[in-house]
Order: sequence, then C-alpha cells, then structure tokens
Amino acid sequence: MGSIEANLQQVKGRISHACVAAGRPVESVTLLAVSKTFAAESVRQAHAAGQIAFGENYVQEALDKIAALAALRPRIEWHLIGPLQSNKTRPVAETFDWVHSVDRLKIAERLAAQRPPGLPPLQICLQVNISEEASKSGLAPSDVPMVARAVAALPRERIVLRGLMAIPEPAADPALQRVPHRALRELMGAVNDRGLGLDTLSMGMSADLEAAVLEGATMVRVGTALFGRR
Ligand SMILES: *Cc1c(COP(=O)(O)O)cnc(C)c1O
Repeated sequence: MGSIEANLQQVKGRISHACVAAGRPVESVTLLAVSKTFAAESVRQAHAAGQIAFGENYVQEALDKIAALAALRPRIEWHLIGPLQSNKTRPVAETFDWVHSVDRLKIAERLAAQRPPGLPPLQICLQVNISEEASKSGLAPSDVPMVARAVAALPRERIVLRGLMAIPEPAADPALQRVPHRALRELMGAVNDRGLGLDTLSMGMSADLEAAVLEGATMVRVGTALFGRR
C-alpha cells in the first residue's frame, strides 16, 4: 500500500478508467471513502488530499470521529453505510449528511421526525438485499417499490430519498460481479417508472468498483484500496 494520497489517486484513476469504458462522464461517479476502523487522522489525511465524502459503519465510532474533525465541516460529508437500529436514529439524524442503509420504513420515519429543522434534509438510500442472501440485511427487491413510495412521501424538508444501495455477494469474475449491480440498476429504473426520480446508485467497493461503474453506479464505497486492510 502507498500513502493515502497515492492510494486516492490510484482509486480515482480506476474510476476514470471505468467511466471511459462505460462511456460515462467521470463526474458522474462520486467516491465515498470508507474510513471505518481507521482513525480520525487517516480521514484528515484523505481530506487534505482532496477527498470530501466519508462513509462509516458503526454509529458510535463515527460520532467520535465526526466530533474530532468538527473543524472540517462543512467541507466534509459524512455518510452512514452500516446497519442502523431504531434506538440509534436520533444522533444519526442530528449528525450525518447521508444514510445509505435504510432498510425499513420505520427507520426513515424516525430519521425524518428527528432531523433538526435547521439542517439540510438528510439524504437517504434504501438498502436492498440484491443477491437475496438469507443472512444479509436489506429490503427484498420485491418490497422496494412500495417502501420507496412511502419514504418519498415523508416531509422533503427533513428527508430526501435519493436512491438504492447494495452490498452484493462477492464474486471474483468481473462478468459475474456485474450481475447484481445490473439488477440494482434495473430495480431503480422500475421505481423511477413510477415517477420517483431517484438518481443515486450506491454500489461497488474496492474489489468490484469497475463492474459497478459499468452498470451505472453513481457512488462507489471504497475502504481497503484507500486506507489498507482492516
Ligand atoms: C466496509 C464497507 C465498504 C468498503 O469495502 P472495501 O472492500 O474495504 O472497499 C463498502 N460498503 C460497505 C457497506 C462496507 O461496510
């Protein structure tokens, strides 16, 4: 592994390359740097190298890091990408910019009710169990249209439904990696056919970001390739 700065350039190069291969503008993909388990100092280094958006999995760890880096706001963006229990929604609604891991209506309702009126609306994605693994969290694909409609009906000054997120089952073969990403894109298309106007596909990680970009990812969540092994 190189320095965080060198890794950042390398990952951006991978994203640009994949965008060119997909015939998409490079600016159509946002890099989310997944800093879970890494110290605030690593986030500070990545931020100094130009990185804006950071993803965290564990609420308490994230809150500590966000507090330690409070001086960087508003030039830094915090995204929750890990599981969210309903008893933890309040500090999340009060602190984060995005939540990618909303997997039921009740969580979205609580986030909307608890988002402080002075802040911009919380941006959210619905997490989908796209590979339909029994052990994985996320909505069943068939439940997504109904939940998306209900979430989109919540007060938009508090919460805005932006798109879908998935963590597909890992696959080594690049062609196989594209299958669940394609399914998530098609699911968002089906939801948008009903007029919801979603614009965010949060998919692709260190090992499969190219496959995700080829299938339309607008946000790739990259940890290991930037910060090293956890
Ligand atoms: C840890 C994590 C990532 C980053 O995975 P890497 O393989 O380290 O790039 C992305 N998304 C979610 C939801 C994660 O938990």
